[in-house]
Amino acid sequence: MSAEVRISPGVQESLRCPICRSRLRRDADAEFCCIGADCGARFPIVDGVPVLLNEASSVFSIEDFASGRKVLFSGSKPGLKGAVRRLFTPSISLNVKARANYLHLADRLAEQSSSPRVLVVGGAAMGQGMEALTENPRLELVETDVSFGERTMLICDAHDVPFDDASFDGVVVQAVLEHVADPHRCVEEIHRVLKDRGIVYAETPFMQQVHGGRYDFTRFTHLGHRRLFRRFEEIDSGAVCGPGMSLAWAYRHFLLCFAKPGKLSASIEMFASLTSFYLKYFDRWLVDTPAGIDGASGCYFLGRKSDRVLGDRELIEQYKGAG
Ligand SMILES: [Zn+2]
Repeated sequence: MSAEVRISPGVQESLRCPICRSRLRRDADAEFCCIGADCGARFPIVDGVPVLLNEASSVFSIEDFASGRKVLFSGSKPGLKGAVRRLFTPSISLNVKARANYLHLADRLAEQSSSPRVLVVGGAAMGQGMEALTENPRLELVETDVSFGERTMLICDAHDVPFDDASFDGVVVQAVLEHVADPHRCVEEIHRVLKDRGIVYAETPFMQQVHGGRYDFTRFTHLGHRRLFRRFEEIDSGAVCGPGMSLAWAYRHFLLCFAKPGKLSASIEMFASLTSFYLKYFDRWLVDTPAGIDGASGCYFLGRKSDRVLGDRELIEQYKGAG
């Protein structure tokens, strides 16, 4: 059942019980065991991936992962049919800023440490633009998710991050916070596991219809997103996906409303994509306009852990929209 754990011995040192935050001990049965006297929880290691979940605060159970290869958001269909469908369903999404933002993050991390350690929350698959981090040999990425995937090193839930306080120089959370039940708690956890002056990079949708089925809960405006990170000092923020993408998503979803779930939806999706994929290219010009920020498909925040809390009056001073 187990294989060599993919996370480095140095990172394993800072693993903690997601329930009581005591240290963990690797035992002979290929499990991690909590050494807390009143806890003693046991966590399996599945094909080299530890499953460190606090079931009391997660919509997932350890059993979901221990018994098989649970994969969420599995993407498009494989095979010839899937290939044809992908060819005639061009993407209506475009992340205009991610690559530049990740390069900015990497520069800032290099100022912090010669070998920065970065926690990736929601890292089962490579996020858009993230090559800027994965191709940087100086960074040590710890890629975690609530889904097995090609890059998953650890199964954990962002509501209870199984690491000691001040374990990381950086945290990346791209297109994740809409999928957690309590984003405020998850950001508190990000704050806790960051070192003093550690850096967070977050991208979260604003104008997007439900995706990921039942695992989709919240959206944020630019300022709503800024407030979520009020215990961080801002380095940069804004829209990451613009109003062209918002419009294409709304149009596609409007058309999908005419189909019964599962019936015709692939054909409608293909038609919607072919007739609206070009809208995303307007975002190269529109993403930073005031109305573009008010109608963004998604927003980003790059910031530094701080002891100071941003007040709400200061928050509204940071409005960049058109109103
Ligand atoms: Zn414990």
